[in-house]
Amino acid sequence: MTLFTAPDFDGHERVIFVTDAATGLRAIVAIHNTSLGPALGGCRMWSYAHEADAIADALRLSRAMTYKAALAGLALGGGKSVILGDPARHKSPELFRAFGRAVDALGGRYIVAEDVGTTVEDMDAVRTQTSHVGGISAGVGDPSPKTAAGVLIAMKAAWRHMTGSDCMDGVRVAIQGLGHVGASLARMLSVEGARLVVSDIDTDRAQSVAVETGATRASPDAIHRADADIFAPCAMGAGLDDATIPELRVRLVCGAANNQLAKARHGEALRARGVVYVPDYLANAGGLIEVARTALGYDAAEADARRARIADTVGEILARAEREGRATSDIADRIAEERFARA
Ligand code: NAD
Repeated sequence: MTLFTAPDFDGHERVIFVTDAATGLRAIVAIHNTSLGPALGGCRMWSYAHEADAIADALRLSRAMTYKAALAGLALGGGKSVILGDPARHKSPELFRAFGRAVDALGGRYIVAEDVGTTVEDMDAVRTQTSHVGGISAGVGDPSPKTAAGVLIAMKAAWRHMTGSDCMDGVRVAIQGLGHVGASLARMLSVEGARLVVSDIDTDRAQSVAVETGATRASPDAIHRADADIFAPCAMGAGLDDATIPELRVRLVCGAANNQLAKARHGEALRARGVVYVPDYLANAGGLIEVARTALGYDAAEADARRARIADTVGEILARAEREGRATSDIADRIAEERFARA
């Protein structure tokens, strides 16, 4: 495969390949842009079918982190790492310690935290080797509930923009993926009276969240076409594509998953279909805002205030997209690019 000319490589400052024979570690650290500050981004552990998929994932995720930090007004750049392997079988504290040494060697240019497949305990193991890590037990811990809180703020702001009310009582929300963020979002929406339909490829998890929140269940291949008002993708990325967008029945898409659009042009496809889309990196910035507390030195109250401002940005982007007849994802990209280009 090509790397320097790959579409997702655009603008990356550094991509580092890491191996450690003793622990079997194989990892990629992608640093997209540090114009605004050190690159902060989670470490995903996943059993990729092909090495090229891992590279593409790291590149796409790190790029999105640059945009996420810029739009959230944080003095941080964008980076991300992936560890190739099955979290259920290939994890060990030694592996994360070896990974921590690789992060430390970057001298603070990259700050790691948890992501899909990694946990607070894993980051604690990383912390034994480097201070450039967030989301540890002695710090803010698991950021997922704060990510879910941010998604809810974004969802309510968009719903208010569309309907004049941000009351979720009786609003039908379809949630795809009930992991750390999706399950937390389901609980919050259930407290607000939303009517939920939920789905996860892990059927036990789907069942327990459904029982807890009074949700109905849909199969993983049908959740995007559920008869609902809002679709919240909270699983893996690239779920909005040429096949799924024509099948959507919702008016709003707002969820936590990173890189929801399979291709950039799918932002326009959603607009053309009359579906309002809250750009993923805007909706899911709540966890980053929390993890950044240590690196940027602000307290929990300030983090809450910054999360609340996600609502203002949603309102601004939706209004501008309507005025200019453009996709919300394009507007968000331009605002973020202006910010890090200026820096
Ligand atoms: P997680 O691994 O805890 O949960 C993901 C869930 O999705 C799992 O339960 C999995 O079984 C399920 N899933 C996978 N494929 C599915 C499919 N096709 N249909 C239905 N369910 C499916 O991950 P998480 O931490 O909850 O993160 C969810 C998404 O949000 C990811 O894309 C992640 O990158 C993004 N995100 C997470 C955070 C955070 O704070 N955790 C922050 C920003 C963005």
